[in-house]
Amino acid sequence: MVVGGGPGGSTLSTLVALQGYRVLLLEKEEFPRHQIGESLLPSTVHGICRLLGVTDELANSGFMKKHGGTFRWGLNAEPWTFDFSVSEKFSGPTSYAYQVERMKFDKILLDNARSKGVDVRERSEVVGVLEEEGRICGVRYDDAEGVRREVRARFVADASGNKSRIHKRIGGARKYSDVFQNIALFGYFTGGRRAPAPWTGNITCASFDLGWFWYIPLSDELTSVGAVLRREALARLQDGPRDKVLEGLIDECPLIADYLSEAERVTEGPYGQVRVRKDYSYIQENFWRPGMVLVGDAACFIDPLFSSGVHLSTYSALLAARSINTTLRGAIDEAYCFREYETRYRREYDVFHDFLVAFYDLQKDEHAYFRKAKSVIGSSAPAAESFAELVGGGASNEEALIGTAPSVSQERRADLLERSRKIHWQGSRVQVQALFGESVGDAPLYEGGLVESPDGMHWAHPEQPAS
Ligand code: FAD
Repeated sequence: MVVGGGPGGSTLSTLVALQGYRVLLLEKEEFPRHQIGESLLPSTVHGICRLLGVTDELANSGFMKKHGGTFRWGLNAEPWTFDFSVSEKFSGPTSYAYQVERMKFDKILLDNARSKGVDVRERSEVVGVLEEEGRICGVRYDDAEGVRREVRARFVADASGNKSRIHKRIGGARKYSDVFQNIALFGYFTGGRRAPAPWTGNITCASFDLGWFWYIPLSDELTSVGAVLRREALARLQDGPRDKVLEGLIDECPLIADYLSEAERVTEGPYGQVRVRKDYSYIQENFWRPGMVLVGDAACFIDPLFSSGVHLSTYSALLAARSINTTLRGAIDEAYCFREYETRYRREYDVFHDFLVAFYDLQKDEHAYFRKAKSVIGSSAPAAESFAELVGGGASNEEALIGTAPSVSQERRADLLERSRKIHWQGSRVQVQALFGESVGDAPLYEGGLVESPDGMHWAHPEQPAS
């Protein structure tokens, strides 16, 4: 059973239900509900969402296409833009993501889970877990009528986000980052400026003295605007009503002030409030214990600058689904399956963490950032391409996250083959196979580790791949 119906919970429950297992999902709210995290990555849109079967629905939902991002960041006083399509992994038909109203996006994923056989119950708040002989075996929850109930399950997945009530039952502490300790103040505007095509839907991130701003075009009219303030600047939040504080901060960031010069803040409906969200980064000491696993923000959260939250949440859901499906099939012991889950999820988190540490150094220009991206993911591709690959969610080299095989040059082919030989790039073997129809064998990520099965929904021992 799954706690929480955000992108992590919906993805996990769908990918397990599609294997024919019974899945119960308990969600505290009634959807649609507001959530922040509106800028997606190509890996989510063309990888995970394709696996879930919602590609056409997303395409028909009128979401703004995001071809890349624009930064006013570092030593360059002028805004600079990156384009997902420079990465061969995202070139061609998969070279964009969407900017989404989470109220709509999360409901599409949750309704899709329901239509794929998941028993989804909204207005059902989990208040605790059940434990027997050291194993988590179910949860206690208040149903939509307020009646307290208990339900038993072979696995409990906590996908209830950063405010999870039950993550502590996994054991170990939630470790907060010393580096990323920000607070976000955000609201919604109509009439904000749009960049010319093809950059109309780009996210813009602009640094200013107290932190940085995001500017996310959600439609032709609606824009999500947030100030992310460093811990030292938190006193500014006490300066007056939130809307006035946000106004004052916008005036201190010339690029955003210019984009909003003819805009008005939305003051009614679900977008009418100026909200505050603490976005301190953290990572849980343990990601699983017998009978229970943490997915998405329940396990870890990294600073929102690269819009990686929904990517990490849905990618971890795919990894957790493989672990649960394999254990339920009785093919491989639970401990092996979840060690694989934890190793891969931590690796993806670390990629963003390590790169963000370097990116927050404003005494560099974009070329230095691109070179850093190349070194963090260990790529021999050109630096700008490595940057687009990393921030597009393609660093893990998981074919499942790339969606459609792009056309790849001969040189790139040689590079991918070379990288696939290194144990670190296990995922690229699968990618190379998919791209060239050529078997290059498979290798685990670490000694004793597992590989993904050909159907992509289970784990297998490297020497005897499961069907
Ligand atoms: P959530 O989306 O939080 O979903 C958890 C669900 O669990 C919720 O629906 C909740 O109601 C439910 N729940 C909670 N408790 C219970 C309970 N006890 N019982 C039952 N249900 C429960 N990410 C991006 O990808 N792009 C961005 O641009 C971006 N910007 C961000 C900006 C800020 C300021 C912050 C703080 C985050 C941002 N993120 C962004 C991150 C993103 O919001 C999260 O990473 C993402 O929503 C995590 O998905 P999830 O499914 O793990 O959790």
